[in-house]
Amino acid sequence: MDQSNQQNKTLEPHVLVFPIPFQGPVNCALKLAELLCLSGICVTFLNTEHIHRPLLRHTQVLSRFSRYPNFKFETVPDGLEHEKPVSGDGFMEVMAAVDAVSKPLFREMMVSGSLSRKSDRPVTVMIPDACFSFAVDIAIEASVPVICFETVSPCCLWTSYLNLPTLIEAGDVPFKGNDLDQFIKSVPGTEHIIRRRDLASFCRTNDLSDPVIKLIVKEAHSVPRTQGLILNTFEELDSLILKHMRKLCPNIYTIGPLHTLHKTQVTANTTKQSEETTFSNSVWKEDRTCLNWLDKHDPKTVIYVSIGSLATMTVEQLLEIWYGVVNSVKPFLWVRRPGSITGGYDESKVPPELLERTKEIGCIVEWAPQEDVLAHPAIGGFLTHSGWNSTIESIAEGVPMVCWPYFVDQQVNSRFVEEVWKMGVDMKDTCDRLRVEKAVRDIMDSKHNVFTQHARTWESLAKESISKTGSSSNHVGRLIDDILAMSS
Ligand code: UDP
Repeated sequence: MDQSNQQNKTLEPHVLVFPIPFQGPVNCALKLAELLCLSGICVTFLNTEHIHRPLLRHTQVLSRFSRYPNFKFETVPDGLEHEKPVSGDGFMEVMAAVDAVSKPLFREMMVSGSLSRKSDRPVTVMIPDACFSFAVDIAIEASVPVICFETVSPCCLWTSYLNLPTLIEAGDVPFKGNDLDQFIKSVPGTEHIIRRRDLASFCRTNDLSDPVIKLIVKEAHSVPRTQGLILNTFEELDSLILKHMRKLCPNIYTIGPLHTLHKTQVTANTTKQSEETTFSNSVWKEDRTCLNWLDKHDPKTVIYVSIGSLATMTVEQLLEIWYGVVNSVKPFLWVRRPGSITGGYDESKVPPELLERTKEIGCIVEWAPQEDVLAHPAIGGFLTHSGWNSTIESIAEGVPMVCWPYFVDQQVNSRFVEEVWKMGVDMKDTCDRLRVEKAVRDIMDSKHNVFTQHARTWESLAKESISKTGSSSNHVGRLIDDILAMSS
């Protein structure tokens, strides 16, 4: 290689994307990485080993990324032996493993430059998950500009992450007493919306030394130190809180709904479009047969039930939701992820009438192509755990929701779905068959219900935001320009 080539190479923008090792964040980060690749930026995608193993078997994702010469995967050990569908309970186990094993190795990679040497060019910008505050510290130590990517919802980021030090100072966290319906006055912008029960689940602790609280407090302090913050939302959806958030983090890129923006841009740049069957980067294998089952149903008649990749339910909760859904008399597509029933699933304990009705009107799969499911015309409602990806995927398709939040941001998201976006029912902290049945009917019955109307409005605003001149497209363009400028 002659010297001028060498010089050109070292000036090349090279982004290191480093997601937290869970299904949803990795899926999102891959989409962001692909958008950067399309613009010609070199991307190294760093996974911890435990989440990378199942991805290695996902040939569709691997083959899609193999067509980008400017993309490569790297891994960093995390010491986690087992490949398991981690449940919510395992969240801190994974984060503790990353802290103990991956963090020092990552520091070594960045500070000694071994990662840069491996790829023949230095990392010019780092995009870690906002939860990895250690990565922000290391980027600053290595003099690399850092832009955080936060994959939890902006409403949670604002109310329960960035304001956690304020909540603690105001005495709102930990909760004193049991009045979960008391409104939280210390967070600007949501004084009349957010009650104690709507804060992120970790706020329900009595113990400020809880490792999750410590992790989030660190994030609250580190995010404002970065050069920017990327959020999977669009301006209109979160205008209520973005204006407050920008006082703390002025440089925010709202690039959502990321999955539809990604799909649009990848499609526009792909010549062999017929080869593209899914745009999902789902780490687990999707059962696409459910799409054929959906094809047999009339528009807006099916309720889709899924609690995402981490949430679990007890057998009692399973039966309550199951009865509620069956009694609503809507055909249903239900994702039953292996390991998602605490204590295990024993079909012999399920009342025979439920199994019979399920044969007639239900379809159960272990993992679905959710983005395609939500976009299917037969889907009329989504009973969800209110994970942020699921929520924004539902918003993007105008599908009203019944929300049954499990943990972290889901408590905030479900509140916003009901109170702010008015496109669903929040069943937080309850689980009985009558409530489920009523909620499913409420969101799906009658074409002119308010939930459907609001859902359509949000769907069209979401579509507008990813159009050529839409706000999210503009923010992606600005992000790319800023990465180029930071790399020069
Ligand atoms: N998902 C999927 N198939 C399923 C269930 C979920 O592909 O059967 C995807 C879904 O589209 C979403 C992600 O898994 O992108 C779940 O992310 P979310 O933030 O909603 O919840 P989490 O799994 O992180 O709790």
